[in-house]
Amino acid sequence: MQTVPIVTAPELTYHDLDYGVNRDSTPALDSTPALTDVEYTDVCQYDVVIVGGGIVGNVAACALGQAGLKVAIVEAEARSMASDRGQAYSLNLLSVKVFEELGLWQRIRPQVETYRSVQLSDSDYGKVVKFSPQDLGRETIGYVAEHRVLLEALESRLNALPNVDRICPATVIETVKTGDRTIVKLAQNSFQNSAQILSTKLVIAADGSRSALRQAANITTFGWQYWQSCIVAFIQPEHNHNQIAYERFQPDGPFAILPLPNGLCRIVWTAPRAVADEMLTLNPEEFMAELRSRYGDHMGKLTLVGEPSVFPVRLLHSTRYVKPGLALIGDAAHCCHPVGGQGINLGIRDAAALVNVMQNALARDKDFASLSVLKQYERWRMWENLFVLGLTDTLTRLFSNKIWPIVLIRRCSLWILQDISPIRSLVLRHMQGLTGKAPRIVGQYPKV
Ligand SMILES: Cc1cc2nc3c(=O)[nH]c(=O)nc-3n(C[C@H](O)[C@H](O)[C@H](O)COP(=O)(O)OP(=O)(O)OC[C@H]3O[C@@H](n4cnc5c(N)ncnc54)[C@H](O)[C@@H]3O)c2cc1C
Repeated sequence: MQTVPIVTAPELTYHDLDYGVNRDSTPALDSTPALTDVEYTDVCQYDVVIVGGGIVGNVAACALGQAGLKVAIVEAEARSMASDRGQAYSLNLLSVKVFEELGLWQRIRPQVETYRSVQLSDSDYGKVVKFSPQDLGRETIGYVAEHRVLLEALESRLNALPNVDRICPATVIETVKTGDRTIVKLAQNSFQNSAQILSTKLVIAADGSRSALRQAANITTFGWQYWQSCIVAFIQPEHNHNQIAYERFQPDGPFAILPLPNGLCRIVWTAPRAVADEMLTLNPEEFMAELRSRYGDHMGKLTLVGEPSVFPVRLLHSTRYVKPGLALIGDAAHCCHPVGGQGINLGIRDAAALVNVMQNALARDKDFASLSVLKQYERWRMWENLFVLGLTDTLTRLFSNKIWPIVLIRRCSLWILQDISPIRSLVLRHMQGLTGKAPRIVGQYPKV
C-alpha cells in the first residue's frame, strides 16, 4: 500500500462517473487537485466497504464477514474513544436474535441486564401500565446493554475474521463511482501524511445521523429537531432496581430509568432544550436534587456516576436508502426520538435485513450489489422504520402536553393498555421487534 501526502480531510465528495454527473460540482476524480497529485500504486479490493464502525456498522461487518465476503470497515474515531462513549441501549428481542445469529450473545449476555418489568405512567396519574414477560410468553422483555459491551464483542469477532479489515482511525474523504465499482478514498487520521484507496462493489453508509456519504450522494432527508434535548446519566441507587425499567411521561418530555448490571441505572431524561442545557450547568448535588424531584425516592439515596451529557433529539428520514453501489443503514438513514429506546434496534434490524437480501442474492448467483437487490432492502425497511418514527413522534406529542382533551385520551389509553392484555401484548411485541418480517443473517454461507 502506498502512502501519499494529503493535507487535511476535505468535505466528503461523491462523483458518479456512470451518469456523467459531478454531484457537488467539484472536479471529478481525474482532475481533483488535492488527489490527482497523489500516485496510488496499490488499491485494496473489497466486496463491501462499510463506513462507520458504530454498533450498526459493526453488526453489518460481522454478518457479511461470516458470509464469506471480503469486507473493510472504516471508523473515524480511535478505538478507545469509540468504546468510551458512555452510552447504554435498550436492546429488544429482535436485536438479541441478531446477536445470537452472529454467535455473540453468549459473550454479551453476562454483561447486560434483563427487564423483569417495564412500568409506564403519566406524570402524577396513579394508573401504571406494567409490561411483564407473561405478556409475551417469554422469560424476558428485553435487555439493557452498554455501548462498550456490544462494541467489544463485535470487534473481537471482526478481529477473528481474516476476510475483514478494520481500518481505524480513518475517515472517508471521497467516493467515486466508476462502472460497477466505487473507489473510496481515506485520510488516515492517525497518520496525517497518508491516504489509502479502496475499491469495492458496495459502500454501506453506517456513518451516523450527519452521514457525509448520504449528503455527498445528494440523498435528501426530511425531519425536524424537537423542542427537547435528552439528558443521559448513570446513577447508583441505594436499593436494588429489581430489573424494573420505568418510563414516566412528564409534561416536559418522557423520563426513563433503565436497570443496568451491578445495581447501576441509566437515566434518559427528555426536557425542553433550555432546561436540559441548564441542567448541565448544575453541580452534582443540584443536578441530583432536580433528578430526585422527578425520580422520587423509592430507590433510596441516589448517587451520580460520571458526568451527565445532553444530546439533541431529532426526527430524520432519508427519502432513499439506496443508490447504485450505496446503501444507508442505521442513523445514516433515519433517527427518531429516544422514547421507547428504538434507535439502535432499528439500525441493527437494517443491518440484518440488508445482509439478508445480499445473502439471498448470492445464493441465487445474483449480483448482491445490484440496484434491484438493494431496492429489496429499501422496500423492506423504509416503511417499517417510518412506522416507528411516526409512533415515537405521536407518543412524544401526545404525552408532552397539558391540553385536557389530550390528557384524557392518553389516560384512557393507559387504562386500555393495563386492562386489556391482548392489546398490551401487541404493543409489547411491536416494541420488541417481534412484528413484521424478521431478518435472518446466517444460513446459506459457511462461517469463516
Ligand atoms: C449522546 C447520544 C446518546 C444516545 N443515547 C441513546 C440511548 O440511550 N438509547 C438509544 O436507543 N439510542 C441512543 N442514542 C441514539 C443511538 O446512539 C443511535 O441510534 C445509534 O448509535 C445509531 O448507531 P449507528 O451505528 O447508526 O450510528 P453512530 O453510533 O452515530 O455511529 C456512526 C459511526 O460512524 C463514524 N463516522 C462518521 N463519519 C465517518 C467517516 N466519514 N469516515 C469514517 N467513519 C465515520 C463515527 O465516528 C461513528 O463511530 C444516543 C445518541 C447520542 C448521540
